[in-house]
Amino acid sequence: MSQAAVANDHVVEIHYTLKDDDGDVVDSSVGGDPLDYLHGHGGIVPGLEAAMAGKKVGDKFAISVPPAEGYGEVTGEPKSVPKSAFPDDVELEEGMQFFVSGKDGDPIPVWVVAVHGDEVLLDQNHPLAGETLHFEIEVVSVRKASAEELEHGHPHGPEGHHHH
Ligand code: ZN
Repeated sequence: MSQAAVANDHVVEIHYTLKDDDGDVVDSSVGGDPLDYLHGHGGIVPGLEAAMAGKKVGDKFAISVPPAEGYGEVTGEPKSVPKSAFPDDVELEEGMQFFVSGKDGDPIPVWVVAVHGDEVLLDQNHPLAGETLHFEIEVVSVRKASAEELEHGHPHGPEGHHHH
């Protein structure tokens, strides 16, 4: 039997290290649990997902993903929102992510870029928008997704438990 290769509707586990243009590590799974995602469903940035196709367990590679294939270009300006718009029990910090309702009711992610007194500055740009993403990837496992995973559009854990 040939070894499974990464293709649409497969659950893939990877270890990744993400560096910025300066070579500083922004994020890494190494030393912790690998990241799992459902291939072909937009669970990871498009440039990395495209590069994953056809890879097999044990494959290691590096790829640089430009902003357009990553978290997008920076657009628009951050908006100021009163602190009172947030729940009282939330300790607002730079980098926190919230979802606001868009025109069509879809949730839109926003990030806190600053807190000034009673004003909170929110930005629709991902913190890594405009950045070239330098990934080092190791493929840990590849398997076909279950019907339930395909229905949900994301992977479930080894015991089928899940965070939702
Ligand atoms: Zn699910």
